[in-house]
Amino acid sequence: DGITKPPPEPSPLRKAKFFQANMRILVTGGAGFIGSHLVDRLMQNEKNEVIVLDNYFTGSKDNLRQWIGHPRFELIRHDVTEPLLIEVDQIYHLACPASPIFYKYNPVKTIKTNVIGTLNMLGLAKRVGARILLTSTSEVYGDPLVHPQTEDYWGNVNPIGVRSCYDEGKRVAETLMFDYHRQHGIEIRIARIFNTYGPRMNIDDGRVVSNFIAQAIRCPERRQEASATSLIWLTRISPCFADSILNASEFTMLELAETVKEMINPKVKIITVENTPDDPRQRKPDITKANQLLGWEPKIKLHEGIPLMEGDFRHRLGIPRKD
Ligand code: NAD
Ligand code: UDP
Repeated sequence: DGITKPPPEPSPLRKAKFFQANMRILVTGGAGFIGSHLVDRLMQNEKNEVIVLDNYFTGSKDNLRQWIGHPRFELIRHDVTEPLLIEVDQIYHLACPASPIFYKYNPVKTIKTNVIGTLNMLGLAKRVGARILLTSTSEVYGDPLVHPQTEDYWGNVNPIGVRSCYDEGKRVAETLMFDYHRQHGIEIRIARIFNTYGPRMNIDDGRVVSNFIAQAIRCPERRQEASATSLIWLTRISPCFADSILNASEFTMLELAETVKEMINPKVKIITVENTPDDPRQRKPDITKANQLLGWEPKIKLHEGIPLMEGDFRHRLGIPRKD
């Protein structure tokens, strides 16, 4: 196309590192839910040095406590919207609030994090010749008109809605990734993650799986508080809406609520309330390509995942299971 440039020569640091076969890896947003699990995986390789950058907006040092003080690990309090000068071989760029409650709290900051933050990380990747991965989202498909969603679907996104700071922010971040690749030859990867849940999620994260589980665990405790309002027993569900969690299967939010009720607390009452604006009605990734090219498929089914999260939440809330 006449614009694509060859990748820049690896920096002397990267060449030297190659001979020692060591990798210095930056994980932005590494104190968060997915980032901290990624750090655990990267630290298992003794040749990796891992640097986490986080401003702790939604993440916590607690998620990284097992690595603090480790000679191959460093933690930097930094906001990704500010430039960062550092020498690294690879960048995993995750920094961004992922839950609607948090990304809608300060939408201008969310869009800055997505746009300026990604620009800063791409600038860094270009300067040091590092490979960079962006964690994008199924929300780039908006309220999809194609089901299930394949990688080449362009999406159906409201550019001026209350979720746009996140959806459009991630879309611009993806555009920046591809423009840096085409214009500067940067090696890029983009992962469009669908709704993911698991231990270490912020208990009050506000996303559906953590919400239902936390409500089911807390419900009987709160009921004893005289002033508890009926809201405590409410579970926000979108009965006609289906969502896919790790593509293990497709189910409606009502089915999810019923499964959580059955597995955690049969006493909870499920009620429906009005949905928030622009919430996608149905999502499910087409994982054919990921399966063929990467051999990837989801391993944990909902019935196995719920008890793992329940155990983690009960431990952190100090509410043991009674039976
Ligand atoms: P999380 O909120 O637990 O983690 C995000 C981390 O980024 C937190 O530690 C937060 O403090 C940090 N952060 C936010 N803004 C920052 C800034 N300006 N500077 C520095 N650090 C900042 O969320 P998560 O679920 O672990 O999501 C991680 C990434 O994956 C995000 O980019 C998110 O958009 C993407 N993603 C997650 C899901 C999911 O279901 N969990 C789905 C799609 C995409
Ligand atoms: N949802 C729900 N109850 C909740 C939170 C979310 O029914 O307490 C629904 C929401 O309307 C959406 C789906 O669950 O259809 C996934 O929403 P979530 O906030 O978990 O993730 P995201 O929209 O960011 O993927």
